[in-house]
Amino acid sequence: MYKQPIQTGRFAPSPSGQLHIGNLSSSLLAWLDARSVGGRLIFRMEDLDPDRSSKESEQSIALALKALGLDWDAGYPDSEYSQSQRSSKYDEVFDLLLHRDMLYPCYCSRSERLPPPPPPPSDSGCKCRHLNFSERRELEAAGRKAAWKIKVPDKTISFCDGHYGKFSENLADGGDFIIKRSDGVYAYQLAVSFDDMDMGVTRVVRGRDLLSSTARQIWLISELGGDAPKYYHAPLIVGADGRKLSKRYGELGAEALLKTHAPDEIIGYIAGLLGISDGSPHSAAELVSEFDWGNVSKADILI
Ligand code: GLU
Repeated sequence: MYKQPIQTGRFAPSPSGQLHIGNLSSSLLAWLDARSVGGRLIFRMEDLDPDRSSKESEQSIALALKALGLDWDAGYPDSEYSQSQRSSKYDEVFDLLLHRDMLYPCYCSRSERLPPPPPPPSDSGCKCRHLNFSERRELEAAGRKAAWKIKVPDKTISFCDGHYGKFSENLADGGDFIIKRSDGVYAYQLAVSFDDMDMGVTRVVRGRDLLSSTARQIWLISELGGDAPKYYHAPLIVGADGRKLSKRYGELGAEALLKTHAPDEIIGYIAGLLGISDGSPHSAAELVSEFDWGNVSKADILI
């Protein structure tokens, strides 16, 4: 008989601050999604950026998840699941892509590269894809440090998001993208795609703001010979100004919430906002059996 692979979800926070009600709601959904199908969860620390990541933030995130009953089966504090410790694996991926002539150095500064609108051509408006050897040497002699971009093909990627439905995107519309920064730090798109594949993730639950990265990640995973996970994007929790919550919302940070409210009150409140319960106190475990993506709000949630 055909055996279904074990379903694996993940928490993948960037430790650049404490959790707040916005990323807590995505974490709750990731947990409910995996547990409701009898799946496991891994906790990957996305601490690629040394300037923005801190150990205090890692601890704060882990403590909040634990306090709220959102447990995991592998990952933090195991450093094998921290992106900052996985550079040698990313080096291998980088070399593979380089040997396949899929990469090129891009000498543009951030301001030269951004902003890309109006609709960027396939090389995001920069000319680096077409530089010859001596032009590269000249830029390097002038002190320019290159980031590495991947050449995207003129190819449409179609996928069905588990919550928002069908999407199609031509990779060339977004343009070539950076996979290694000029300071040598691997970029999010490379690390997250490779890690989801390498860690056997089958279900990705995350905020809707990352829908626009999904086609690129599906493509990158297929280029690396893997199977893309199923993606479920979640509504964002937005402040009164209509903007995604950020570290600005101190009183909605997990640390402050856990000082003033019981874990079940916080989980129940978030579940109420998402539309999966009536807002009364509940533990995460109590919500598993009734969990259904069909009840999760599609609209962003204003608080
Ligand atoms: N590390 C990212 C964040 O905290 C999430 C990445 C992902 O889920 O793909 O926003």
